[in-house]
Amino acid sequence: MKETRLEQLYFSQYGLQLFQGCPLRFKKRYLEGLTWKLNRLANSDVFHGQEQGRLFHILAERYFLGIPTGIEKIHQEKTLHQWMEALKLFLPVLPENQYFPEFELRLHKGEVKLQGKYDLIRVDREGKVTIFDWKTEEKILSLPKVQRSFQTILYRFLMVEAGAAILRETVKPENIHMIYWQPNHPGKAIKLAYTTELYEQDKKFLESMIKEIKAFDFDAYHKEQTDVKICRYCEYHSICHKQPGNYDRILTEDEDNGE
Ligand code: SF4
Repeated sequence: MKETRLEQLYFSQYGLQLFQGCPLRFKKRYLEGLTWKLNRLANSDVFHGQEQGRLFHILAERYFLGIPTGIEKIHQEKTLHQWMEALKLFLPVLPENQYFPEFELRLHKGEVKLQGKYDLIRVDREGKVTIFDWKTEEKILSLPKVQRSFQTILYRFLMVEAGAAILRETVKPENIHMIYWQPNHPGKAIKLAYTTELYEQDKKFLESMIKEIKAFDFDAYHKEQTDVKICRYCEYHSICHKQPGNYDRILTEDEDNGE
């Protein structure tokens, strides 16, 4: 049964991140299907922050689709209005470009199954691709952290491998950039270029990680092998440690996909 689930699984950045942090957490989420929404458990500030982020992604999607955003009906959320103004200044919609907001790409090649949901893919008239990711948290992003994050690795690699779904031809790594943008810090976007060398490196990394996960003996792994600092912010804390963890800072899959 577990083998079947693993074979069927398309790995997301969230899944890879979970496995790296704690294989037991990965097992509970993906092999045992144990999930629940955490939002209701978080304190009201955290819940409000998550809601703002979710709404911003919806408004940005409508903006790039060229349909009315409906923001004028949101009266209470001054921040959302500021964020949308900042987005329009940062990224005006130009007629010569193509925009694909909230676009999902999937890859199934041999043993490798991957998926990623992109906040925005922009293709310019030369066929150059820019991947945008919105991060609505207050904390400013760190360049070294995003440079080698699972999201950066997966999203750029997947664009080379599966981007033909948009462009009808394979995209060369050199024609791909990824930009992380925070509406709270609109002037501090992080732009990352891609190269064939990095693509080869990412390919090896992802293939070997998937191989490792598929060969991993989940039944032989015990909670004591995981750093307690990771456990503290895990949704399964109450199962493993018989008392609730800190649910305010737990990253949910929705949050991970949406942001
Ligand atoms: S509580 Fe700790 S050991 Fe248990 S699944 Fe979460 S991270 Fe892993």
